[in-house]
Amino acid sequence: MLKQVAEGVLVHESGFLQSNAVVVRGQAGVLLIDPGIQGAEMACLANDLDVLGQSVVAGFSTHPHWDHLLWDPRLGTAPRYGTARCAASVREQQAVPDWKAREAEELPPEIADDVPLDLLGQISGLPAGATRIPWDGPHVRILEHQAHAPGHAALLIEERRVLVAGDMLSDVLIPMLDLSATDPIEDYLGALRLFEGAADDVDVMVPGHGSIGGSEELRARIDLDRAYVDAVRDGDVVTDPRIGPSAREGWDWVTGVHDWQLQQLSR
Ligand SMILES: [Zn+2]
Repeated sequence: MLKQVAEGVLVHESGFLQSNAVVVRGQAGVLLIDPGIQGAEMACLANDLDVLGQSVVAGFSTHPHWDHLLWDPRLGTAPRYGTARCAASVREQQAVPDWKAREAEELPPEIADDVPLDLLGQISGLPAGATRIPWDGPHVRILEHQAHAPGHAALLIEERRVLVAGDMLSDVLIPMLDLSATDPIEDYLGALRLFEGAADDVDVMVPGHGSIGGSEELRARIDLDRAYVDAVRDGDVVTDPRIGPSAREGWDWVTGVHDWQLQQLSR
C-alpha cells in the first residue's frame, strides 16, 4: 500500500527489514527510489501505480547493496540510475562469473523464494559528481557521501522538502560503517555533517529501513548516530537504544552487527 508522506511523494513499506521504497510523482510518470525486496511487494507497488494511472519513468538505487538494487519486470523498463561510484561497485560485484548464484545463496532464507534477481543492479552510473537526477519532475538533489557503502547517495526532493536517506538515519539499525573504506569512521561523521547542513530544508525524512520522521526526528537521529560513531571511535562503552536490551522486538540481531563491527575495526 502506498502512503503519502508529502505532496506527490509516496512510500511503500516492505515487510523485510521495514524497507521503504519511495515514489515521486513527476510530469509524465514517477521516479522510483529503492523499489523493494520481494517480487510480490513490487507487483503490489506496480499495481498501486497502475490504479493511480502512473508508470515508472526513472529509477534510482541509493547504494550498491542487493536490497536497494532490485527491480521487477512489472515496474517497466525505465532507465535506472545510481551514482558513478555505486554503478562501478555493482559492476565489480557482477564481474564474478557466478555472482547471481552467490547472491541467491546469501539471501535471507525466509524470503529467498521471492526475490527477483534477474534485473538486480541494472543501473547506469550518473556522471561523477552529478547533483541532480535527470528526469521530468521535481528537482531531486543528490547528496553523495562516502559512508555505509561506496557511492552512497541520499536524495533531497527540494520542492517537497523530503529527504530520502538510503541506509543512513535509521531508528532500527545502528550506523553500519563501510568497512572497506580507508577511514570509515571519519567518512560517517562527514556524512552526518552533510545531513546536518541540509536539515533546514527537510520536513520529512525517509530512511531505507525504519520509521519515517519529521525535521526534529532528523536532528535527533543525526545526534544519535554521531554519538554512536564517536563512542566507537573513542573506544567508549556504546549505549544506544537500537542495541542491547532496548533494541526493538525482532531487531535483537542488530546487537550482533554492532559486536561484529567493533571486532572488524579492532583488527
Ligand atoms: Zn545497505
